[in-house]
Amino acid sequence: MKQENQKSSQAPFRDIERPDPPRLKLKRKLPRAKYTQDELVEIFERFRQQRPEPKGELDHVNPFTLLVAVVLSAQATDVGVNKATKELFKVADTPQKMLALGEEKVRDYIKTIGLYRNKAKNVIKLCEQLIERHGGIVPQDRDALVELAGVGRKTANVVLSMSFGVPTIAVDTHIFRIGNRCGIAPGKTVDDVEFILERRIPRDYLFHAHHWLILHGRYVCKARKPDCEACVIADLCKSREKTTDIPAPIVRLED
Ligand code: SF4
Repeated sequence: MKQENQKSSQAPFRDIERPDPPRLKLKRKLPRAKYTQDELVEIFERFRQQRPEPKGELDHVNPFTLLVAVVLSAQATDVGVNKATKELFKVADTPQKMLALGEEKVRDYIKTIGLYRNKAKNVIKLCEQLIERHGGIVPQDRDALVELAGVGRKTANVVLSMSFGVPTIAVDTHIFRIGNRCGIAPGKTVDDVEFILERRIPRDYLFHAHHWLILHGRYVCKARKPDCEACVIADLCKSREKTTDIPAPIVRLED
């Protein structure tokens, strides 16, 4: 299969059989649950009603460009990455084309993004590795993904979820905060939070949970001060920081 044919599969996931998540194999116990399964179902059902088909905010045209976009997004905003990749992906949407472009030109395209020198280096290395090890195709395997330059567990999980339909939780700063603030997944590390969320979130909701939680953290349960008046789960939330018990009405939102 050529890379050009490896299309992003963000499309209708809800009706297809999905593989089980590649769970963290850690020897640890789950902490005492603050929420019953019924409460968790209610929480994620409300998120589903708000955003039935949530999508990531990083622009991409295939698994390769998604992988590159996520690598570039470390310590950068999605908006900033999208601005830089808009032109880059027009000329380089496969590892072969990216290599042909070369590190210097890649650097020019992405110089508005933080740490761009290092990221350009990683993107080129990543392309070499994809071609050498995987025939230029993004592997659908987490162990293989995390062996690539600049790819950590979070990046691998985003690609597995968005491109290949694997229900994973890629714990970013928003998910880490919500997990701890609301007590859905209290953990000291991102691995702890991922471990708990993958086991606690009701299976029917696991696939989209990653995006729901990121968007909830980005727009409502914000870092500095949660906007509880705008929160559809304010009645269910058990955070000591919440400022109201009255949930906001559920309004269907576009991404
Ligand atoms: S009620 Fe407040 S603290 Fe709880 S999830 Fe909503 S915004 Fe966050």
